[in-house]
Amino acid sequence: MTSYYQSQIQDIGHSQTLLINEQSKQLQSKGQNIIRFGFGQSPFSPPEEVVEIFAKNSFKHSYAPVAGITELKTAISKYFYLKKNLNINPENIIVGPGSKILLYIAMASFKQAEVLIPAPSWVSYEPQAKLCGHQIIAIPTSFKDDWKITCETLEKFCQKRQSKEIPLILIMNSPSNPTGMTYTTDELKKICVILESHKVVVISDEIYEELHHQNKHISIKTFYPELTMITSGISKWAGAGGWRLGYIALPEGLGENFKKAYIGIASETYSSVPLSAQDAAIALYDNFEQYGSYLVHQRKILNLIGNYISTQLRAIGVAVADPQGGFYLFPDFTTIANKKGISTSQQFCTDLLKNTGVALLPGSAFLVEDNIIATRLAYVDFDGNKALNASYQIPIEQAFELKFLQNYCPNIIEGICRIKKFFE
Ligand code: PLP
Repeated sequence: MTSYYQSQIQDIGHSQTLLINEQSKQLQSKGQNIIRFGFGQSPFSPPEEVVEIFAKNSFKHSYAPVAGITELKTAISKYFYLKKNLNINPENIIVGPGSKILLYIAMASFKQAEVLIPAPSWVSYEPQAKLCGHQIIAIPTSFKDDWKITCETLEKFCQKRQSKEIPLILIMNSPSNPTGMTYTTDELKKICVILESHKVVVISDEIYEELHHQNKHISIKTFYPELTMITSGISKWAGAGGWRLGYIALPEGLGENFKKAYIGIASETYSSVPLSAQDAAIALYDNFEQYGSYLVHQRKILNLIGNYISTQLRAIGVAVADPQGGFYLFPDFTTIANKKGISTSQQFCTDLLKNTGVALLPGSAFLVEDNIIATRLAYVDFDGNKALNASYQIPIEQAFELKFLQNYCPNIIEGICRIKKFFE
């Protein structure tokens, strides 16, 4: 039986980030103490009053409108203006069950496309583009350039392509998962000159926008509004990944046909987002300014942890920059791992997990060549709510002491200790 149709089955594996989480859990269930630097999910909970709204509205069991309820789209539009100074018509905002499916639909709305994906990038862009049947072009980046695309490389790739009638899509993600890096205003402006000259469509994944450690997120749409769409949501800044609520702001430059196709695919796939999640999101976006302190403290904690790790790892010869946003680092262990006879990022992660119980994700999962022994380190293995409550007691301008990490983030310290020992 199993020999039927094998060649016609899609060649798509299990999402690598979810896989490492499961492997770690399995080892944990066998009694091993695992430091979970592999899976990235916000360690913080949504604000209590928003959890109440979510619960209180769970009686609403009808289907909602495909594109989301007007009140929510208006609240998101208000947030766009407040935080990014962008005027987005609520009619151009579509709400979906998480931004992941919305990214997919953005690509699926094109019959054909060439998709430029910076390497390293988040794990799902490439399989999504592949499922759409699009051609994928990985743009290499390096530690020297903070793992960001350069104008020279971008220009080269735009010029090289042959069939200019096929849409060219660039996926941007700042702050970045997996690197923790962000683009500056100057860099974005220069990149946008190239994008505009080649009429590139940009999908800007801004899901970590509120976790820019300095609260200085800048959207690429500011400098290239016509063909840029933005995806974001409440999974990261409000700790509500499991509620499944994200949104996309469609670009005006692709016209009504694109919107029609987009909503068409949404209606043929996910249908709508539960009303209770939409009510919770209205509370978050409509009263956004109320969550200033909740966010300032999250950023302060994440910055402390990220900087602690980057400093410790640099001291043993790892190439890693201090983080700028989100909760990831992308340390490059090549030099010290090669000395230990390790030659691929996959081998390094397997050896490290087996020998020390520290779970990291190999750079190869993020489109980086396997002989570059870079890994993604998600620094969220701590009790976010305890840390947040403790942080509220410390004046925001007062720097944390090491004691804070020792008390509230012991697994972070332990994990780094184990990595250091592995290389001794
Ligand atoms: N984009 C990036 C870079 C992510 O890290 C994630 C989640 O891990 C997503 C998008 C999807 O987020 P969600 O579907 O929860 O909105």
